[in-house]
Amino acid sequence: MSRAHNFSAGPSALPLPVLRKVQADLLNYRGTGTSVIEVSHRSPEFVDIAERAERTLREILAIGDDYWVLFMQGGATLQFAFVPLNLSRPGETVEYLYNGAWSGKAIREARRLRSVHIVGESQDSVPPPDSWIRAEFSKYLHITSNETISGVQFRKFPEQLDVPLVADMSSDILTRVIDVNQFGLIYASAQKNVGPAGLTVVIVRRDLCRPLEEGGSEYLNYRAHAERESMYNTPNTFAWYVAGLVFDWVKESGGVAEMQRRSIERSGRLYEVIDESNLYTNTIAPEFRSRTNVTFNLEDESLSADFLAQASKANIKHIRGHRLVGGFRISLYNAIECESVSHLINFMQEFERECAKK
Ligand code: PMP
Repeated sequence: MSRAHNFSAGPSALPLPVLRKVQADLLNYRGTGTSVIEVSHRSPEFVDIAERAERTLREILAIGDDYWVLFMQGGATLQFAFVPLNLSRPGETVEYLYNGAWSGKAIREARRLRSVHIVGESQDSVPPPDSWIRAEFSKYLHITSNETISGVQFRKFPEQLDVPLVADMSSDILTRVIDVNQFGLIYASAQKNVGPAGLTVVIVRRDLCRPLEEGGSEYLNYRAHAERESMYNTPNTFAWYVAGLVFDWVKESGGVAEMQRRSIERSGRLYEVIDESNLYTNTIAPEFRSRTNVTFNLEDESLSADFLAQASKANIKHIRGHRLVGGFRISLYNAIECESVSHLINFMQEFERECAKK
């Protein structure tokens, strides 16, 4: 079987052992005579899968009992509204750091609902916390830990903030060691490091979740989901099941610390090639460069179409940059194997050598 070297930004490659397990389980899950996607979310089979997934995630991220872990739908995009609706009231101020397209989208949605104070702005870096201009009173401060489009990432999160820190970790959750206790709320859509699209993981400190208020939507309330074990309505059972297998795979592979080690190694090798090259360029300062989304341009942009075509011939897929910024983007999520990175690097170096000859 020939699998592509798939560097898609999301939905993206899943670990091969997980896909094989899904394949094996599909017609007959553990002798039940049905597949996981054909049974009720309230059946004992699925409830067991759901509970196991949560337990394993709690274990690999060391999530304490003072946090709820929710498996939701609507993508990270729905969280752009959920967060302000649940962590603040109308008229209250909330703080956001702007450092790229995704934080921009979170801000745009929050502005429709609350008074938003921007603490710092940058397109190609993470303004350091000591430069942030803070609001006098706010209910939380929102950051995007990794900007998937530009390839800009937080290395170190602010410590001892006086308001709850909220992080969109859609593109780097489980790729780095974090201390969950530093955050009031973490959310991440699944389709990069967790599982199939259509599932969103939310880790939220219980005391931040307000009770349902008169006139407020019940569905748009974290507590409503938490009190029903994320089964307020029919969940995306397939994605939840696959996520559970991914969590098992992370645990069996050495946990998040090992994922982080691999992430540093993979991205380090690729940035080294870019930095040593006369053809590939990345202008982001090394301390902000994403370890999960490596972006670059070609010095001579007229070579781009040829680069893409040759890459595709070499079975290297989904490397075109986001339509907003162009160029190229190599997404190096947890499932990307070392051999794929080596294959890509060999291809890039060979392409550059061939160009130099012309
Ligand atoms: N935030 C970040 C950092 C993302 O990378 C993405 C998706 N690429 C989103 C939010 C939006 O996720 P979704 O499409 O699942 O709503």
